[in-house]
Amino acid sequence: MQGNEQASQIVFVGGGHTHSLVLHAMRQRPFANAAVTVINPGRTAPYSGMLPGFVAGHYPREALNIDIAQLCDEVGARFIDGRAVAMAGDARTVLLEDGTALPYDLASFDVGITSAMPGIPGFADHAVPAKPLGIFAGRWDAYRNAAGEKSVIVIGGGIAGAELAMAMAHALRQRNRNAEIRLIDRSSILADNSETARKSVRAELDHNGIEIIENAPVREVQPDGVVIEGGSRIAANFIVGAAGATPHPWIAQTGLDLHDGYIKVNKALQASADGVYAVGDCAHLVDNPRPKAGVYAVREAPVLFNNLHSALTGSPPQDYVPQSDYLKLVSLGGKRAFGEKFGFGFSGALVWRLKDHIDRKFMNQF
Ligand SMILES: Cc1cc2nc3c(=O)[nH]c(=O)nc-3n(C[C@H](O)[C@H](O)[C@H](O)COP(=O)(O)OP(=O)(O)OC[C@H]3O[C@@H](n4cnc5c(N)ncnc54)[C@H](O)[C@@H]3O)c2cc1C
Repeated sequence: MQGNEQASQIVFVGGGHTHSLVLHAMRQRPFANAAVTVINPGRTAPYSGMLPGFVAGHYPREALNIDIAQLCDEVGARFIDGRAVAMAGDARTVLLEDGTALPYDLASFDVGITSAMPGIPGFADHAVPAKPLGIFAGRWDAYRNAAGEKSVIVIGGGIAGAELAMAMAHALRQRNRNAEIRLIDRSSILADNSETARKSVRAELDHNGIEIIENAPVREVQPDGVVIEGGSRIAANFIVGAAGATPHPWIAQTGLDLHDGYIKVNKALQASADGVYAVGDCAHLVDNPRPKAGVYAVREAPVLFNNLHSALTGSPPQDYVPQSDYLKLVSLGGKRAFGEKFGFGFSGALVWRLKDHIDRKFMNQF
């Protein structure tokens, strides 16, 4: 929209990594004749790269917070501390939990995923999902600072579960707490990772004193432990769900075309409704499906930024072409990390310093 016409309404749903970077980019190049609104539950959004370091005790809580509300202030955007629950594409409105209907000309979803496990009885009451990261970070902070015996179960032996288990083991060791930490998987741990990663990370789990329990689907979560298929019980007083990724159930209320609950987007990151985009973990890249990882959310930012500008000016959008591989960096509890790219693995203190450098550089932008 140009000239003296009414300002276009751009609504950013979620303060995920892509939207944070788009807000950052607006410092240099604001959207002309557009009013921007950002909705996020809470003023800050945590940066995933530094979460394991926070859990391990290497970083304070503030270090992983991206201050979305402050970014909004700086670029003249309106910040709403709230939650989207639906969208009405025909009326071009995003609906919030408190009943507000926000009109949009352009809307973008960057709301991440959840690792809640609604299918497991007792999970919602007695366990904490690793995602959303902010809620998990708060619960872990309270647990590690509280007195008493420490026994932790991480459900889900993917790379995030393994990384969290090692970080927790390190944090409790540093506090001289005698802790039992168990990593439980329905099949084999690290099944989706390369042989190189599996070998190295397994050795590190062992080094951190973490008990690995495989082929053990969790049937129920109780206040003081979990019940495994077959009936055996494992005690714990902090239970974390890190088993994979599920889209937020409310995404189904957007009316957008979905793939397994994720918002389908084309190469230009456009969803099925006119003027609507989706990025980060909540999006499904129809032409180039990729695993859920922050690195894609980050790389989508310049493309979304450009395509919103293009939509306002009527110029053609740009395609997002995701990279085929990326440097995976996994922290190993203490200040050591494992890195892998193109099938080559390497680990040690130097790799942690590299990860620390990359993560701090990312956060310093804000
Ligand atoms: C332990 C752990 C470690 C990880 N480490 C790495 C790593 O080292 N490298 C890597 O590439 N990836 C890593 N990941 C994956 C990474 O976390 C995600 O890929 C990344 O956070 C995706 O970013 P995003 O932009 O999709 O959204 P997110 O960062 O998930 O942010 C989504 C935002 O939307 C908000 N939101 C949620 N619901 C609503 C709603 N209804 N209305 C409005 N706002 C809402 C949330 O509060 C949040 O602020 C890790 C994941 C975990 C669990």
